[in-house]
Amino acid sequence: MEDYYEKLNEYYREKNSTVKCKGCKEKKILKEDNGNLMFSCGGKEKCSRSFKIELSQYINYNDILHEYTNFINKNNVKQKDKDSITKNLEDILKLGKKQLVKTNDIANKKKHINNYNDLKVKTKIEQSKLLNDINDPEYSGNVDKTELVKRYHSLNTILTENYKELYELYENPKILDIMISKGKVF
Ligand SMILES: [Zn+2]
Repeated sequence: MEDYYEKLNEYYREKNSTVKCKGCKEKKILKEDNGNLMFSCGGKEKCSRSFKIELSQYINYNDILHEYTNFINKNNVKQKDKDSITKNLEDILKLGKKQLVKTNDIANKKKHINNYNDLKVKTKIEQSKLLNDINDPEYSGNVDKTELVKRYHSLNTILTENYKELYELYENPKILDIMISKGKVF
């Protein structure tokens, strides 16, 4: 893939620079069609740089599901056929899903949620212990009650900070594009 990205860069560099090739002074030829990018410097002899890029292709996971539902609804598909179409679609999407999980680092997000939930439970338990002591008229611990109140609030702060981190993780939009064919360079 590295070669692919390098060539992509080269293509757009050529496109956004001079109209004529610096080497042979011929007019560059750039073509874009059907997911292909073609470049030729226009030269024929010594300087005749040219390459073709087949772009990676993507489908959008949600679009596919949406189109599928539309198709089923519009065409009055029989239940039996519906089942087999669904089965096929699921097989295709299964691979896509794997890709999306990887792209969006979903496993890592789940870990963060679990960590946050653990912390929340622990914090709540700790806070209820503190509240008990704070409200107990016969409290006789070594720590001063004002200190207990401070601790109670600082636990809130820690929880809020962690929640913010979790929220930021989710703020980034999910990528739902699945690569169905890898780009190539010729
Ligand atoms: Zn040239």
